[in-house]
Amino acid sequence: MKNLLLKPRTAGDIEAQVAKVIRGLGNPEPPIELSLVRELFNLDRGYYSTNDHGLLRETVSRLKVAGLQVLMRPTLLAEAVRAMSLRALYLPDQKRILLDNDLPPIKHRWNEAHEIGHDIIPWHAGMMLGDSEKELTRSCHAQMEAEANYAAGRLLFLGERFAVEAVSSAPSLDLVQQLKRTFGNTITSTLWHFVEQAHCNRPMVGLVTGHPNYTRRRADFDPVNPCRYTVQSPAFAARFGHLSEIALFQYVTQYCGAQRGGMLGTDEVILRDAAGEPHLFHFETFFNSYEALTLGVWQRPAPAIA
Ligand SMILES: [Zn+2]
Repeated sequence: MKNLLLKPRTAGDIEAQVAKVIRGLGNPEPPIELSLVRELFNLDRGYYSTNDHGLLRETVSRLKVAGLQVLMRPTLLAEAVRAMSLRALYLPDQKRILLDNDLPPIKHRWNEAHEIGHDIIPWHAGMMLGDSEKELTRSCHAQMEAEANYAAGRLLFLGERFAVEAVSSAPSLDLVQQLKRTFGNTITSTLWHFVEQAHCNRPMVGLVTGHPNYTRRRADFDPVNPCRYTVQSPAFAARFGHLSEIALFQYVTQYCGAQRGGMLGTDEVILRDAAGEPHLFHFETFFNSYEALTLGVWQRPAPAIA
């Protein structure tokens, strides 16, 4: 799945909202404390369990799920959570965030920031409550999710602060690990934000996959969808966006060893842009015993191959 890049104007509107929040907190040092953000907005937080839907059954909300008002059918929320395997929810009419308690705590941080994102994006509440004239279509829903993710990233990585630190040294997975520790977020969200936000003008791509070495493939490996996420920088999307996730993953499999963890390998890879011109990229891959993270960074135009 490739990342959905927002239109500059939408991104700018969200950036302005998040900047207000960060100022409201007195421009804190990383890592940001989400409890302070909830306090600032009077947001309440609760937990539910996928095994015990008691809390969800008791939750009465004006929220709409798939066009139906939860208020009219109180079991709807629990059903939707099960059917769509939702990991978190935001109830705008109650200013309440609900998190799946069965998820590891490290993932709560992203989900909580995502739901806060729905709260601070001014046009979301109306759409979630079904006040909007527009029907919440599938593509409209994907757009809202991308917007909330964008707000979450800007919040967890403290707006402009992340880019300032990210461009202070040459791009590498080492730097991504360092930034992960500074900002206190997961390695996946740090890689994602690094590629999307830090070097807008440099073609760069990040892949989150299973172990790329064929001897380490798990039973659930899907050759048609080898990448859990493919994150393209705006410059990469513009010039190399035609490259498929299968093709990109193929390059990675060629240099990755069978190590059980740590660095799996690096390589110089030649990718052709949309005009057919060859470019040299530096690729490196790290395995954290759960997911493989790959960073590919543009170096220079490659000499034409005869
Ligand atoms: Zn959402």
